[in-house]
Amino acid sequence: MAIHLTFDRDKCKGCELCVSVCPKHILALDSAANAKGYRPAVCVDPAACIGCASCAKICPDSIITIQKD
Ligand code: SF4
Ligand code: SF4
Repeated sequence: MAIHLTFDRDKCKGCELCVSVCPKHILALDSAANAKGYRPAVCVDPAACIGCASCAKICPDSIITIQKD
C-alpha cells in the first residue's frame, strides 16, 4: 500500500500544528515561501509516512490530503 500526502501549498499559513503532531517527525516548513508569503509545510520523508492522518485532522484549513492505494 502506498500513501500519498498532498499539501495545498498556497493555502498553508505555516502554523506548524501539523509539524508538531506528526509522530514520525517528517513534516517541516519549506525554506521557500508560498504565494501568501508563508513558509508552507512539506513532508521531508514521504516514504516514512504511516498514514495516521494526525496532520490532516489538526490542520485548521484542511489543506492536507492523504490517499492510500
Ligand atoms: S499522516 Fe501521520 S505520519 Fe504521515 S505525515 Fe501526517 S502525521 Fe506524519
Ligand atoms: S497545520 Fe495546515 S496550515 Fe498549519 S502548517 Fe500544517 S498544513 Fe500549514
